[in-house]
Amino acid sequence: MLLGAIADDFTGATDLASMLVRNGMRTVQRIGVPPAGEPPPDADAVVVALKSRTAPAAQAVSESLAALHWLRKAGARQFFFKYCSTFDSTEKGNIGPVADALVAALDAGFALACPAFPANARSVFQGHLFVGSTLLNESGMEHHPLTPMTDANLVRVLSHQTDGTVGLVPYATVAAGAGTIRKAMTALKEQGRRYAIVDAVDDGHLLAIGEAAAGHALITGGSGVAMGLPENFRRAGLLAQHRDPGALTSLDGPAAVLSGSCSRATLGQVAFAREHLPVFALDALRVPDAAALADAALAWAADKLGGPPVVIAASAPPDQVAALQQRLGRDAAGALIEQALASIAEGLVARRVRRLVVAGGETSGAVVQRLGVRSLRIGAEIDPGVPWTYAEGSGAPLLLALKSGNFGARDFFLRAFEVLA
Ligand code: ADP
Repeated sequence: MLLGAIADDFTGATDLASMLVRNGMRTVQRIGVPPAGEPPPDADAVVVALKSRTAPAAQAVSESLAALHWLRKAGARQFFFKYCSTFDSTEKGNIGPVADALVAALDAGFALACPAFPANARSVFQGHLFVGSTLLNESGMEHHPLTPMTDANLVRVLSHQTDGTVGLVPYATVAAGAGTIRKAMTALKEQGRRYAIVDAVDDGHLLAIGEAAAGHALITGGSGVAMGLPENFRRAGLLAQHRDPGALTSLDGPAAVLSGSCSRATLGQVAFAREHLPVFALDALRVPDAAALADAALAWAADKLGGPPVVIAASAPPDQVAALQQRLGRDAAGALIEQALASIAEGLVARRVRRLVVAGGETSGAVVQRLGVRSLRIGAEIDPGVPWTYAEGSGAPLLLALKSGNFGARDFFLRAFEVLA
């Protein structure tokens, strides 16, 4: 293993893993910290996915250190702390506290911080984070329910979260290329800065930053800045050329889609699927019982498995979601549907389904947990940020595609299976 990464949430981990595969590293995403003796997978990079973004800071730190400890033992040569490209955090953390702990544990003294991801319209200029053409604090992120971002000046934001000091590698330095960036970072480290926010507004900048960080023990940022890291390993003769770093064992068996996302993109994908595939709608308003919903869906699917992929969806427009939430309460409504879909996933796998698409971040979490999946080998992308994966630990072998709500084009549920063909 060359690169060991720690991600502060599940879909962010997949995003990073996909970026590494695209750039030539065979990558496995591990769900949670592996137990001490667990051997490393046969991969160039491992991304440990935590759920630490909004956890209490002390817990985020201890889980991140446990992940670091395992990755070190497993032989990783360089470490990456992945957070959101909108720098999602609170006044107290958790980006600062976790980065502080990792810098100290690695005795690194310094780490760059770069959430920029120009392909997704996140850029950093003079230390300020932009979403498209608006500053972070005017992008809607200032209203985020858990991590409201009310300041776009990342030097200031990170300074509030650390007892170290934060410098800046500005645009003009970054534009001058890897050598200049490297010198600027070394100078900041020598001045006693623990971090540098590094500007980047296009992929060329990210590649140069990656090259400049070849010798760094720890890099922190969004998945964008990881783009340049595989080339460092190749240049050092450590990373073999893989013909297809995202090659997955193919699996025959029935195919299915489970959708618990009510995001606009997913609603469009379910509507499109209705015109092409058999679709079963879970009606939790009429039957507010997870077991009964699961039984009905599995009975419906029974004689359809083996034909075109079956789609089972709880996805509903905002008025129906509100009606169920009013009846049961917000958390209970979400939990009811997550449990129903997790039971359906279990039932489908027991009925030999081997290719499964799940739509919805929380929904994916519930399904993966129920199936006992421990790790995901990352394969080809269906749409940006959503790869097929080979799931291990679930008893039966399984190809899984976990789609966060707003990802994917309208024909995603059809094309997902064409990518495998
Ligand atoms: P996304 O990635 O789009 O945010 P999630 O799976 O994270 O999707 O969240 C969607 C939430 O909505 C889940 O908790 C799910 O159980 C819940 N949900 C799905 N369908 C309905 C519905 N018809 N009524 C109420 N809640 C629903």
